[in-house]
Amino acid sequence: MSFQPQQCNSLLYHTSVLLESEKTAHAFSTRLGGVSEGDFASLNLRGSCGDAPERVRENYRRLCTVIGASEERAVLAKQVHGDTVRAVTAADAGKGLLRPVDYEADALITDEPNLPLFVFSADCIVVLLHDPEAGCIGAVHAGWRGTAQAIAAKAVEAMAAQYGADPARIRAAIGAGIGPCCFETDSDVPDAMAAAFGEAAGPLLERRGAKWHVDLKGLNRLQLIASGVPEDRIDVCPLCTACRLDLYWSHRKMGERRGVQGAVIVKK
Ligand SMILES: [Zn+2]
Repeated sequence: MSFQPQQCNSLLYHTSVLLESEKTAHAFSTRLGGVSEGDFASLNLRGSCGDAPERVRENYRRLCTVIGASEERAVLAKQVHGDTVRAVTAADAGKGLLRPVDYEADALITDEPNLPLFVFSADCIVVLLHDPEAGCIGAVHAGWRGTAQAIAAKAVEAMAAQYGADPARIRAAIGAGIGPCCFETDSDVPDAMAAAFGEAAGPLLERRGAKWHVDLKGLNRLQLIASGVPEDRIDVCPLCTACRLDLYWSHRKMGERRGVQGAVIVKK
């Protein structure tokens, strides 16, 4: 795997070699290196959860610094486990951190420089996308509902339609998320995946007694390949957020008393 740990002072994050380019910068955050305390210790990126707003802002500032960007330009979304892709413009700078978000979306795309696009998770899958020739980027949040609604594929399609991206040129990196080791479900999840992916989903759905174990990262990888992204341009972080509570928050393991990690990408 080409995910690499990176350290800046106490801040620990990961980058994907596949996304390295002079045209963009990106980071997949961990819990480590922020200023929040208690349940939110320490690099919590979630506002409106009880954490102090000035601490959350400082956490954004630290993460934006390592990608050479300003948190004042950060663009967030109200994530709703849907399939809406928002084409972000300069008018959206600061939404979600400095001022309210006036849209719901689970994927953000742009061809504008200096707009760091953020997505968050605490088990869900996050995907970053880049077409270096078309000069566009994307950030996707995909839980199981978003995965079944093909949000990653819809982000690729929107990058093609809006900015002339070619899926064959797109680089994709799938960050840490809950693995099949810990994502135990009833039959509703595998049923949704079988409906969305057909037989191709089979190897990524494992039945164990009355329960199922579902490989969401693998399903998103499959979806990107079906969208035309070459297999060798898709990087997958092997880390499971529910196994690695030393590095990540996990909704499944912690419930609502927790922070969120995130992924960010910016066009230079
Ligand atoms: Zn696990």
